[in-house]
Amino acid sequence: MKKIILLCFSFLILQAKPLISVSIAPQAFFVKKIAANTLNINIILPPNSNEHNFEFKPSTMKDLEKSDIYFTIGLEFEKIFIDKFKQNFPKLQVVNIQKNITLLETDNEHEHLHDHSHKHEHSHEHFDPHTWLDPILVQTMALNIYNALIQKYPQNKNLYKQNLDQFLIELNDLNFQIVSKLKKLKNKEFVVYHPSWTYFARRYNLIQIPVEILGKEPKSKDLQKLIALIKNKNIKIIFVQNGFPENAAKTLAKECNAKIYKIDHLSYDWENELLKTAEALSQNL
Ligand SMILES: [Zn+2]
Repeated sequence: MKKIILLCFSFLILQAKPLISVSIAPQAFFVKKIAANTLNINIILPPNSNEHNFEFKPSTMKDLEKSDIYFTIGLEFEKIFIDKFKQNFPKLQVVNIQKNITLLETDNEHEHLHDHSHKHEHSHEHFDPHTWLDPILVQTMALNIYNALIQKYPQNKNLYKQNLDQFLIELNDLNFQIVSKLKKLKNKEFVVYHPSWTYFARRYNLIQIPVEILGKEPKSKDLQKLIALIKNKNIKIIFVQNGFPENAAKTLAKECNAKIYKIDHLSYDWENELLKTAEALSQNL
C-alpha cells in the first residue's frame, strides 16, 4: 500500500512539471539543454513533417493551452495562428527564439518570374527561418531561451545559468568540429532538396543549391537546368530530407550519376545530425 501511495505521489510530482511548447524538435533539444529535467516540452511539428506545410491539430492546441511559454522560430504556421493563441490562451507567453538575430531574406528570385496577381495567396516566408542549423546562431537562441526561463522560473536560475554556460561551450566545440571537417573541401557547392541550410552554408563558406522551387518539386524545365548545373560543377551527392518529396532528387541523382544522402534538419538529435551532415559534405565534395 505504501508503495502505491508513493507511486501515486511521484506520478503527481511528474505531472506537476511545467509544460512549455516549441515548434520543432531542434528547439526542444536546445530548451532541454538549459532546463534539464525541470520542464516538460511539447513539440508542435510531428515527426517527418514539412515545417512549411503544416496545420495545427486540436490535440496540439490542448498542449499549447497548458503551456507557460511558446518559443516560436519564424515559421509561417506560427504567424497564421499567433494572434488566435494570444486571444484564447491568455496564460501563454509567446517568445521569439530568434530575438537579436538578423534574418536573411528568402531567395525570391523565382517569385519575380511569376505574375503577381496571386502574390497575397502564397504562403512562403519572406525571411529564411532556418537559423537552427548554425551553431553560432544557436548560441543567441540559447541565451533567449535562458532569459525567458529565468523570468518564468527564477527559482531555477542557478541551474539554468550553469547549463547555459555549458551549452555555449559545447556549441563552440561543435562549431570547431564542423570547421575542421570542412577544411579540406575542394568544392564549396552542394545540392539539397529543401534550402534549409542557408545559415549553415553562410557560416562555413558553402554555397547551397536547392532542388525545390518555392516549396514545390521543380518542373521538368527546371530539372534540365539543374542537371546541367550539377554535371558542370561535378557534384556527386544530393541531399534529401525527411518529410520532403524525393522524386526530383532521385531523377537528378540518376541523370548526374550522383549519390542520394538523407539528412534531417528537424532532428532532435541535433548535434549529431550537424556532424553527420558535415561529414557527408567532407567526403563527397
Ligand atoms: Zn524549411
